[in-house]
Amino acid sequence: MISVRKNDTVLVIAGKDKGKRGTVTQVMPRERRVVVEGVNIVKRHMKAQSGVRQAGIIDRAAPLNISNVVLVCNKCNAPTQVKRTILEDGRKVRVCQKCRETVD
Ligand SMILES: [Zn+2]
Repeated sequence: MISVRKNDTVLVIAGKDKGKRGTVTQVMPRERRVVVEGVNIVKRHMKAQSGVRQAGIIDRAAPLNISNVVLVCNKCNAPTQVKRTILEDGRKVRVCQKCRETVD
C-alpha cells in the first residue's frame, strides 16, 4: 500500500540522494514510484524544437522507487510510518506512528 501522497514531505533513505528531504510532486502508484522535488536529478539533453525551446541540458527530477523514501510527519517533523484509521465520521486518515497525530 502506498502511504505517500502528492505534496507530502519525504526523506530519502536509499540511493545517491540518501538523507535528502523534498516534496512529492508526483505519485505513480502502478509503478510504485514517486517524483520528489530536487531529488534524483538527472541531466537531460534536449534537442532544439524550432519555436519551442533551445537545445541544451536541463535538470529533471527522475522517479524514485517508493521503498526508497519515507514520509516525514508534518506534525512532529520526524520520518515515520503511518497507519490508516477511519474516524468516527467515516473519514479515512493517516496517523503518525510516532506522535499519534493525524497527518492529513
Ligand atoms: Zn508525527
